[in-house]
Amino acid sequence: MKREFAVIGLGRFGGSICRELSSEGMEVLAIDTEEDKVNEFKNIASHAVIADATDEKVLKELGIRNIDHVIVAIGDNIQASILTTLMLKELGIKKITVKAQNDYHEKVLNKIGADQVVHPERDMGKRIAHSIISNNILDHLELSDEHSIVEVKAGARMSGKTLIDLDIRAQYGCNVVAIKPINKKEINVSPMATEVINKGDILIVIGADKDISRFEKQLV
Ligand code: ATP
Ligand code: ATP
Ligand code: CA
Repeated sequence: MKREFAVIGLGRFGGSICRELSSEGMEVLAIDTEEDKVNEFKNIASHAVIADATDEKVLKELGIRNIDHVIVAIGDNIQASILTTLMLKELGIKKITVKAQNDYHEKVLNKIGADQVVHPERDMGKRIAHSIISNNILDHLELSDEHSIVEVKAGARMSGKTLIDLDIRAQYGCNVVAIKPINKKEINVSPMATEVINKGDILIVIGADKDISRFEKQLV
């Protein structure tokens, strides 16, 4: 089933979204004010048009009202990003995702009703910082201000032990939701308490940040 998307702003972020949606077979309308950007996406997106998204008349003419999900990836021009989002909202677009440039921008976008606000540079920076602090933290996904999911590589301290031996939930308040064994392809979702962990296995752990941090320090 094809779904309709529009990507406004074809910088690195918007361009990457546009490429990925298109390669997944989705219908994408790509919009940018710059002719060369639009030309770059002529053969990638279903439609690529030169247009200023802050012009309400232009948005209407493009038939943006018929599109389910619009991604606003206008970078540096915060005013244009906010104005575009506001007009999309007024036109009744069902789902609007917007890239925020900073925390104030994010706050405004949330206030005016953006459905999803993303902050890729900040979030990617955080994720990479966590993997830099510990070689065994492979990835870090923030669920809220206080909760995360982390991907950790089991070291010698966990090797040969079961979840019961380590008593992870009781001792650290974290749950191991899945284990990717080092020597097997399949991922074991909802592992048994008797599952033996080997060095190099990848554990996906969910919990409060302070609990995960304790778990990392003592076991990883
Ligand atoms: P990224 O960090 O994702 O690469 P960027 O820093 O390149 O983004 P900008 O270049 O500021 O961000 O903006 C992204 C794109 O949005 C640019 O290609 C720009 O031409 C386009 N753009 C800016 N204003 C508008 C507008 N009013 N309507 C449509 N496109 C716009
Ligand atoms: P609990 O009293 O914590 O509910 P339980 O009665 O369900 O545990 P088991 O499932 O046998 O007992 O697990 C024993 C202990 O093993 C748990 O208390 C917990 O510390 C640890 N454990 C088992 N499964 C997990 C898991 N998926 N993630 C983290 N710890 C686990
Ligand atoms: Ca940028």
